Amino acid sequence: MTAAAESTVTFDGRFARELAELAVPWQAEEAPGPELLVLNDKLAWDLGLDPQYLRSREGVRLLVGNHVPAGATPVAQAYAGHQFGGYSPLLGDGRALLLGEVTDQSGRLLDIHLKGSGRTPFARAGDGRAVVGPMLREYVVSEAMHALHIPTTRSLAVVATGRQVRRDGMLPGAVLARVASSHLRVGSFQYARATENLDLLKRLADHAISRHYPHAAEAKNPYLALFGSVVSAQAELVARWMLVGFVHGVMNTDNMTISGETIDYGPCAFMDAFNPAAVYSSIDVSGRYAYANQPVLAEWNLARLAEAMLPLIDQDQEKAVAPAVEVLGGFRGQYSKSWSGGMKRKLGLGGGGESADDASALVDDAIAILKDGPVDYTLFFRNLGKAARGDLRPVRGMVLDLAAFDAWAERWQAMKPDADLMDSVNPVYIPRNHLVEEALSAATEGNLAPLQQLLEAIGAPFTERPGLERYAEGAPEDFGNYMTFCGT
Ligand code: AMP
Ligand code: MG
Repeated sequence: MTAAAESTVTFDGRFARELAELAVPWQAEEAPGPELLVLNDKLAWDLGLDPQYLRSREGVRLLVGNHVPAGATPVAQAYAGHQFGGYSPLLGDGRALLLGEVTDQSGRLLDIHLKGSGRTPFARAGDGRAVVGPMLREYVVSEAMHALHIPTTRSLAVVATGRQVRRDGMLPGAVLARVASSHLRVGSFQYARATENLDLLKRLADHAISRHYPHAAEAKNPYLALFGSVVSAQAELVARWMLVGFVHGVMNTDNMTISGETIDYGPCAFMDAFNPAAVYSSIDVSGRYAYANQPVLAEWNLARLAEAMLPLIDQDQEKAVAPAVEVLGGFRGQYSKSWSGGMKRKLGLGGGGESADDASALVDDAIAILKDGPVDYTLFFRNLGKAARGDLRPVRGMVLDLAAFDAWAERWQAMKPDADLMDSVNPVYIPRNHLVEEALSAATEGNLAPLQQLLEAIGAPFTERPGLERYAEGAPEDFGNYMTFCGT
């Protein structure tokens, strides 16, 4: 190891310093035999961290929280949250630590956070640990989201701890090193609001403005502007999830960021066949967080954020309600605009060769064809790109009602779809559930090759490459009804 390599990065403890009431200084538990499973070299370089250093004994210890670098003040963050609609006044990082912030090569301040680093004062009945499979799942899916240009936390590394962890049987423990523009959540505001410490709530909002929406500081009402910025960021984010067929799975308010980045990949999945009711979480029995419900639930969460922010919006809470409701009322329009614009691009439209109404009707009718299914959502759009280049066979081979499809395709082709545009927004490789399961099972058994190959495929999702054919195919018929478990 080279001490010089580490010293190229200076950790800061800005969150811990500015928001001490939300930060409990804490230490990671000792990992008995840390072993690096996967490292994101490119991201490490962007952060100014030398991958060679991170592969060293000290570097790996840093990635599990056992070596605290200069300037870092590891803290467990406090937050509250609505989980499946019920309010929990105290959640917080039960098994995670914010190591500190670093400034990346382009000058952005980023959190480095460790998940699975042992029990904290917020652990309640939990063991504070995480296991290899789910941490690699977060690594794979978050990196896929990033490559799909969807705002997300990033994954720097997964390190096996060398400890067996009790789940459904014993499983190898792991820590995920995660990078985010911050870990401020809707639940952070709920927690601060519940303390009735207005100064804390204000400092939290100022911290959020400074890190994410500096322009809000210039507004007539900076806190209303902050709220509006979060509403816009979340409307855009959820529209992008919907466009790629992503189901988050646990959209509790503690899992929704202020920055507008996707966070906390648990029982999430990309849908194979188009299905508005798609749910992959074994604990979401009512389908609260089903695919088609996501925009509505995002709006619901933002209403909780508004409630938490009311005392900032106006000293007189009665007067705060109307502007907050008005800003929240903008969510639906912003969401619809992002979604329908994105859908038109998925169909290769928007170049001006069609009327907006005709294009919208075409989008609606495409959704009807998908609903008529079962049609693999990702492949349908990618194959439509081939149709735009003249080869209709692959997409025709996917649909049941050929007459309806042909009539639709004739209208669509008359609008002169742009095939290159389609290929730039319709991925060929997504982290399909059967591939993720295959890679995680192999990794849990000690074989990292399938994981590496999956990462290679999803790292460039729009560029079809020879040798990766099986990563572009739909789920095998015997794959069945996919479920993921929250026992992460
Ligand atoms: P999640 O659903 O993963 O976002 O977690 C919800 C809450 O449960 C957060 O407060 C987590 O820190 C906490 N939590 C989840 N798993 C564990 C665990 N194994 N030990 C301690 N706390 C946990
Ligand atoms: Mg969470």
